[in-house]
Amino acid sequence: MARINEDYQKLKAGYLFPEIGRRVTKFCSEHPEAKVIRLGIGDVTEPLPPALIAALHKAVDEMGVRSSFRGYGPEQGYDFLRQAIADNDFKARGAAVEPDEIFVSDGSKCDSGNILEIFGQDNIVAVIDPVYPVYVDTNVMAGRTGPASDAGRYEKLVYIPVTAENGFVPAIPDQHVDLIYLCYPNNPTGMTATKAELQRWVDYARREQAIILYDAAYERFITDPEIPHSIYEIPGAREVAIEFRSFSKTAGFTGLRCAFTVVPKTLMASTATGEKLPLHALWNRRHTTKFNGVSYPVQRCAEAIYSAEGKPQVQAIVDFYLENARIVREGLKGMGMEVYGGVNAPYVWLKTPGNQPSWAFFDRLLQDAHLVGTPGSGFGASGEGYFRLSAFNSRANVEEAMVRFRKML
Ligand SMILES: *Cc1c(COP(=O)(O)O)cnc(C)c1O
Repeated sequence: MARINEDYQKLKAGYLFPEIGRRVTKFCSEHPEAKVIRLGIGDVTEPLPPALIAALHKAVDEMGVRSSFRGYGPEQGYDFLRQAIADNDFKARGAAVEPDEIFVSDGSKCDSGNILEIFGQDNIVAVIDPVYPVYVDTNVMAGRTGPASDAGRYEKLVYIPVTAENGFVPAIPDQHVDLIYLCYPNNPTGMTATKAELQRWVDYARREQAIILYDAAYERFITDPEIPHSIYEIPGAREVAIEFRSFSKTAGFTGLRCAFTVVPKTLMASTATGEKLPLHALWNRRHTTKFNGVSYPVQRCAEAIYSAEGKPQVQAIVDFYLENARIVREGLKGMGMEVYGGVNAPYVWLKTPGNQPSWAFFDRLLQDAHLVGTPGSGFGASGEGYFRLSAFNSRANVEEAMVRFRKML
């Protein structure tokens, strides 16, 4: 009989969001009259702005005319989009990234999982705890971990805790690791990293010949001018970092699907015999063999994010979510709660009142206030006693959520 990949058996059964879905569905069927407000899953709610929709329509029409019809495009993305990204997201910020170092894809979730294919099995992997579960689960699937402990920590993975006690600044490991996932602005905590903090990671990676997998999916939510948007703003990062970007949260593309990964041509890793090879060539091989490109209309739509009309329209939506985040953050603070994030990110991370376990607080919030959030423990052992609220919702729902919080506390 055909055999399964045994590593899948190590995965913890109750993945966070299905479990939330199960509890919410049960509650709703028992209380059909309750108007539940969901501040849980990080999905956008605002429609795409007019400049983006116009670009999408135009490209769709081109596909219906023989002279402008397009079949397969370049697997790595069309030049028009790679150039717009390089100019606007990197050169404009003093970060040196060339268009041919940008690989356009259908999502950062897939990219951050797929990237593991070009790395050897024996690499030691470090994550910051709490963590975006995809980094951990894809390493489990790839067979790079042992089994999980009761607390949900996998053997062989290196967990670096961030909590209020260390100000959510992860300590540089005192051991060797080969791959380090960093996510800034952070999901779930909503916290950011300063230039000095990122410089310490780049210095560590250079010293240890490690590679940083930098997830900047929430880059556009940065409001503080001192906070770097890209790891490549840090000197030396081109030799040690891969960066993941996505249009999902920053421009409402969670349904359309478009993202990109930057692999600098200066980034090397070693063979078993110690020969240094460029990862750019490996990722190019992987990407062109297993992926056939993002659809032309979607890439034209993504290009419009950088147009004179599109830019302010996209910014207005980001600002709208940031105002939601401010309302949640300031509202909860005013009620005496301990809150973090929500300034340069669409997430607010709060300490559960009276140190309640995350899931107990989840159930209470659902029962008493008909509000859905995300239990911090679902993001890792260090998230226990914390809770994530997302700013992706209508203004009316966010304001109503604050009213209900106040009544419940
Ligand atoms: C939402 C999110 C992404 C983006 O995923 P896509 O597949 O591009 O939609 C990447 N990283 C983190 C941490 C996220 O929260």
